[in-house]
Amino acid sequence: MYIKAFRLVQTYDNSLEYAKCFLYLCNKRMDSAAMRVDEELTPTIPGRWGEEVFPLLSWFRLDKVRNANVMVVGCGALGNEVLKNLALFGVEHLVIVDFDTIELSNLTRSILFTPEDAAEGRPKAIVAAERLRKINPAIQVLPIVGDIAHDVGLGLLRRMDVVVACVDNRWARYCLNRLCMRMNRPWVDGGIDGLEGTARVFVPGKNCYACGLGPEALKDLSFRLSCASVIRRNIREGRMPTTPVVASIIGAVEAQEAIKLLHPEELARGELTSLCGKMYYYEGQHLASRIVDFSAYDDDCPVHERWEPIEKIESLTTGLRVDDALARLSERFGGEPVELCLRDFRFVDYLVDREDDRRYVVSRPDYAVERFVEESPVLRYKPFHSFYQHEFGSIDMRFPYPELTLKEIGVTGCDVVPVRVGKAIRYVELGDELDYSIYLSTNTRAS
Ligand SMILES: [Zn+2]
Repeated sequence: MYIKAFRLVQTYDNSLEYAKCFLYLCNKRMDSAAMRVDEELTPTIPGRWGEEVFPLLSWFRLDKVRNANVMVVGCGALGNEVLKNLALFGVEHLVIVDFDTIELSNLTRSILFTPEDAAEGRPKAIVAAERLRKINPAIQVLPIVGDIAHDVGLGLLRRMDVVVACVDNRWARYCLNRLCMRMNRPWVDGGIDGLEGTARVFVPGKNCYACGLGPEALKDLSFRLSCASVIRRNIREGRMPTTPVVASIIGAVEAQEAIKLLHPEELARGELTSLCGKMYYYEGQHLASRIVDFSAYDDDCPVHERWEPIEKIESLTTGLRVDDALARLSERFGGEPVELCLRDFRFVDYLVDREDDRRYVVSRPDYAVERFVEESPVLRYKPFHSFYQHEFGSIDMRFPYPELTLKEIGVTGCDVVPVRVGKAIRYVELGDELDYSIYLSTNTRAS
């Protein structure tokens, strides 16, 4: 059954953010950029990283750290510090997610970036990947120039042992929390503001970021600001921008907590204590730091879904036409009619001008509509709220655009998608043309 709806577009605040995301959504560009990192010739370090140092720590398991897959979301001030620390600790399999490019204002607290990177406006994820491999050539880094909300396949996320959030807004945290809940992955959060910072750890089944939000925060979720904009706002308000020291402190706590989560046996024995259920708070102006209880878990919270079991269909890729993909899914499920659910986005086929009912073909996912409007010489000068958007929330054999590919609909490579078969929901992981496996550890989670 199609979900057809006319929805008033009210999210103009997000338009600039989404515009930035879309500069780098071409998979080929992501792939070729990743390859560039791998092809760089770097000297090898004799012996294994850290083997003379870290085993001196009673709890430290070098094999677990080396063989873990860790995703870092956000590559600003916190992301730089977290990535640097994880690399120094000997984590050899990293995924970096960031849609932004380097600006001069980033350099005061970004150890991995140079003025040349800023002058060229290079993507943060790509540059960070290059610099980490200079620190330790054994590191495999997959940079994803995209947005955690819709550019990271859940099939990739579920292979992570831990995810570290280094983002600057509630919306990204909310999205990441929801994705980690679905894939049952723990994640570490950090936030910095002026001379203050906080760090937290979330483990599905124990605590939840969304459950800890108040009603005002939930209302503001759609409001997102880029880091550069935060700085501009702070200057206007006479506030200090984020300092490198606070980023170092909170980034270090995040990295430490991430390393702890790679040691579940040591945590269970009490040899290590996790920050899960608590919040670390640091205040630099008068030098105070404390740990407070911060555990919220409401059984009725809608984001506590766990998607399991997951069935991978290698031949189901985002390059397939919709009709072909549906036919393959139906074949997989015994010839039953199937419906592909678009859980976090809608496919928009056209906009309607409310004044004259004129239709404008859009044919893209809803998160790309704002950019489409901004780039249109006809639509860009109209107030955004003057449009309705016609959209689909699910796709079945009656979908009127069977020639579109899953990618054109907005489905991400390696994603896990809910498929309705009769009254049941099956969770299907897509294959993809890109081979992410070369970057991942072959630990039990990744296999
Ligand atoms: Zn919750």
